[in-house]
Amino acid sequence: MSFNHSVILPALAAAGILATGCAHHHASSSHHAAAVQEPPKVVLNNYYNEGGNETDHWTWNPSPPSPAMSWVDAGPYRKAQRKKGDIVAIVIHTTEGNYRDNLTFKENQRVAYKGNVNYFKGNDREVSAHFVMGPKGEICQMVNETDIAHTQTYYNGRGIGIECAGWGRFEEQWTPEMMDSLVNLCAYLCVKWDIPAYHPDGTAYEGPYSLEIQAPPLDDEGKPKRSDRTNRFLGRGLVGHYQVQPWNKTDPGPHFPWKEFSERVRERIRDYGLDPIALPPLEDVAKEILSVARIKEDAIKADQPFTYELTIFGNGANEITPDQIVFPDFAKIKGLTAGAPTKSPESTANRAIFEVPLTSSEAGDFSLHAARINFKDKWSDSPTVSAKVE
Ligand SMILES: [Zn+2]
Repeated sequence: MSFNHSVILPALAAAGILATGCAHHHASSSHHAAAVQEPPKVVLNNYYNEGGNETDHWTWNPSPPSPAMSWVDAGPYRKAQRKKGDIVAIVIHTTEGNYRDNLTFKENQRVAYKGNVNYFKGNDREVSAHFVMGPKGEICQMVNETDIAHTQTYYNGRGIGIECAGWGRFEEQWTPEMMDSLVNLCAYLCVKWDIPAYHPDGTAYEGPYSLEIQAPPLDDEGKPKRSDRTNRFLGRGLVGHYQVQPWNKTDPGPHFPWKEFSERVRERIRDYGLDPIALPPLEDVAKEILSVARIKEDAIKADQPFTYELTIFGNGANEITPDQIVFPDFAKIKGLTAGAPTKSPESTANRAIFEVPLTSSEAGDFSLHAARINFKDKWSDSPTVSAKVE
């Protein structure tokens, strides 16, 4: 049996099933439409084997339909061409902001919804979100998912931000209508972008998915001081703003039902015969941590031997040895000659520090590709860094 590409079957369309194959087109073409949902479609794609040859098999990719939503252009955001794999998380927020004591909670939520849509149209603090959700589950999209909204600082590039109108400190915040709508929206986005439909543990301060850029100063109780903003959260999936910025954010707050919510998102995905994507194994996260290894820059004087310090941040789950590191062509390119790296006694379980003696150098600006690191038989590149030789 053989099907042509993109055959639309009206019977299955009536069953309310939308294929991932047309989700992009569907989403982008409906942005400017009012809150009217297009009829769902099913697309049958021909199956291609690894050699690119068409075979008799075909795949049927149903997915949760895009919820009904309106569109208002946000002012501040960054144009990007994010693809599957670039977007790894949905970040849930509450809008917070001024609460008016002369209004009921419901009235406040309505004001917060309209106020935030209005605010993201343009503001001098340069903030925005992909979606704003109202108390009745209304959804307003303001930034394309492929673009980057300014919602959660360093994590913006990884995430899709959803601002729920309201205040996380109130128990009545999570209305059934809002939760239903959030489940539908997240199921749709998880399938569309291959985002794990799970809530990961931890915050930027505590693992297993945290990257320690610098040991945070501790308070009297031995907890990281809230002033420290250097750590990074690397978790994926259904994430709360509090995990990304534990130093100044608590949203969506203590009443958000993470367990029930993430279970419902997975259920909704399974309703369409699909398997929710699981959180990545810790090795993958460790690889990501290795890939952001930094070179500690020292003063570099031309024609003088010096020690270069390569710092690799880990998560305690991996031990890195010198033979796992190679230094690529930079030494040849710029006339720098490197000796063998040795592990510094200052290294800890979480942080491997290698001293790399460079025996000659010439003056000028240069950038170098620091190193390649082998972790579980896979090579990861550390980033290119720039330095100046005086
Ligand atoms: Zn937030």
